[in-house]
Amino acid sequence: MIIHLKETADQAKVQAIVEDLYAIIVTTGEGSIVVTPSSVKALPEALEEYADKYFVFDSDIQLSSVDYIEGREVDLGPGTVGRGLLNTAVITGPCSVESREQIEQAAILVKELGLSILRAGSFKPRTSPYTFQGLAGEGLELLDEMRSKYGVQIITEARDATHIDDVIATADIVQVGAKAMYDHGILRRCGKTSKPVLIKRGFGTTLQEFVQAAEFVLAGGNPNVILCERGIRTFETKTRFTLDLCGAAWLKENTNLPVILDPSHAIGFAYGVPDLARACMAMGVEGLLIEVHPDPSSAKSDAAQQLNHQEFRTLLNSLKDIAKALNRKIF
Ligand code: PEP
Ligand code: MN
Repeated sequence: MIIHLKETADQAKVQAIVEDLYAIIVTTGEGSIVVTPSSVKALPEALEEYADKYFVFDSDIQLSSVDYIEGREVDLGPGTVGRGLLNTAVITGPCSVESREQIEQAAILVKELGLSILRAGSFKPRTSPYTFQGLAGEGLELLDEMRSKYGVQIITEARDATHIDDVIATADIVQVGAKAMYDHGILRRCGKTSKPVLIKRGFGTTLQEFVQAAEFVLAGGNPNVILCERGIRTFETKTRFTLDLCGAAWLKENTNLPVILDPSHAIGFAYGVPDLARACMAMGVEGLLIEVHPDPSSAKSDAAQQLNHQEFRTLLNSLKDIAKALNRKIF
């Protein structure tokens, strides 16, 4: 249950009343609200004098539910995304920051194409310890340099809670990866910033668990959360993962959060990325996340799935055609 408190409500008294319920008090732009477990279906009597209005839910998808707010808008700087806004952020860049030359070429590509958001990881959650793990702090500095030099927005990921403060300080959008989305140190810290947070769905994560991860950030006080579907693990082994477009449709229907799709990590092979990206665009989502590399075959991570810059230019042209047909604006 979400309870909107009256402006005059004494927060200390409310806190004492809801303590045993495992409820959380969240301060929003419009005042304070109490979020109890969804199993609470009736307004506790002791709260009646403090409550303005309340909302009942059938699961712990509450702050992110369409039954609470129809659509949340998230300001990404160069554009705002949200249900009904008809804006799609096309986010591109390499899997990892590898060198100044490499990330600079990506920043130039973003500018050249009139896009705004550059992606690249610096703390890489690799499957094997015997592989490139990212440039860590040095990579963040290079991303910061690209923002200053080219005026691009930066999205980069936190692998664990040890460097989440550094990522929040550098990024314009904080990415919580598929493997990191269960890290409560990261989720709780993301609740304490107002920067947009993009949460990627774990490949073995149900939609319920995924959205509940977002609830941790929302309940922490940060309303700027974006969901990213990036493929789940199924019985199929021919592709890296299976892009769950049905899941994306469910998220659009049932949650108030912007939805972004990542065809690159889903299929894992560059040959299928353009077709999938067009299918994603046709779903009218709030964003796409597509990996590119100036020379994919030499990439230090996710080499097989990255498009080269020319392939991406061609893809973007066809995405613009689809956007036009849907009356959507790409930024
Ligand atoms: C990434 O975006 O580079 C990444 C590591 O993705 P995911 O967390 O979806 O595997
Ligand atoms: Mn990657």
